[in-house]
Amino acid sequence: MKEFNLNTLVRKNIISLQPYTSFRDNNEFNAPVLLDANESPFGKYNRYPDSTQKKLKNKLAEFKGVSPSQIALGNGSDELIDLIIKIFCEPKKDAILMMNPSFAMYAFYAAVNENEVLKLNLDENFDIVKEDFLKITQEHDIKIFFLCSPNNPTGNSIKDIEFFVQNFEGIVVIDEAYIEFSENKSGLDLLDKYPNIIVLQTFSKAWGTAGARVGCAYASEEIIRFINTVKAPYNVNSLSQELILNLLDDKNKLKENVDSILKERTWLEEQFKSIECITKVFPTDANFFLLKMKNVDKVYDEMLKEEILTSKRAPAIPDCIRINVGSREENEKLINVLKGIS
Ligand SMILES: *Cc1c(COP(=O)(O)O)cnc(C)c1O
Repeated sequence: MKEFNLNTLVRKNIISLQPYTSFRDNNEFNAPVLLDANESPFGKYNRYPDSTQKKLKNKLAEFKGVSPSQIALGNGSDELIDLIIKIFCEPKKDAILMMNPSFAMYAFYAAVNENEVLKLNLDENFDIVKEDFLKITQEHDIKIFFLCSPNNPTGNSIKDIEFFVQNFEGIVVIDEAYIEFSENKSGLDLLDKYPNIIVLQTFSKAWGTAGARVGCAYASEEIIRFINTVKAPYNVNSLSQELILNLLDDKNKLKENVDSILKERTWLEEQFKSIECITKVFPTDANFFLLKMKNVDKVYDEMLKEEILTSKRAPAIPDCIRINVGSREENEKLINVLKGIS
């Protein structure tokens, strides 16, 4: 493990920033008369949400086997990506590192914050070349490495994640948006071992609540404190907090969702074998496939004509389309359309 000092990584203005706090956060009342926040006295959702998301964090902490103080919640993990960049990267000065290809939002938020984006090209199996990683991290001053595993849009998991955590002086963000679909261990297991990791997870994929916009960051108490300091006080609304609390009570729901997606994934993989325009199915640990196609533009357009929206990754990933697993009915329609393309 390289030497690690959180306070030299965090921007100076953030270190001295005082978080917004509400008197309500730190005091318990039985029947309060709430005249402190200019809310309406009428209606069901008239009150501001709990800015500390206490109930939700407590329940999630129990579910994940971490402490509530190791959790920060965001308006989707997208918001957390933005906040993490804001905390560590000085605009116009600092750089982030991401894999290439990987999730586009890291570069997007780095651009919003005026931070340089360095890209680490993956090998032909979409894994990281360790020598390349060591070289680029030695040659550049990099604050954050976004390590996405399973990776979007390639679908594979990154091998030996601990190596990158051990050999990096900055923060490693392990983005696990698809971890529930994978048999690999979560980076959460590394949380107590390394002070320089942030694990991102989300309720948008396996949990099936992308519309609620709830993402989670797990990290050391010190890092979480900075995220809580910079976030908008009411970044997760009351309806979403309630929804996710109820979801966490329904323990079978996640397993049911994941099992049925995995079953459909296996079915699709089998069907793909007999489709002429598909030249390669990349291995996946997620709820989507990266497929190499003959005549990729034509295949994409033909699907679109039949009102099937997919994600064309060509030309960045030559000849490739990313297609996610849908319901059986949707998957059957997809296969039928693909079968008709010569
Ligand atoms: C979908 C996805 C996210 C999740 O974004 P939310 O804002 O939580 O909906 C994060 N990272 C990756 C790699 C994704 O594919």
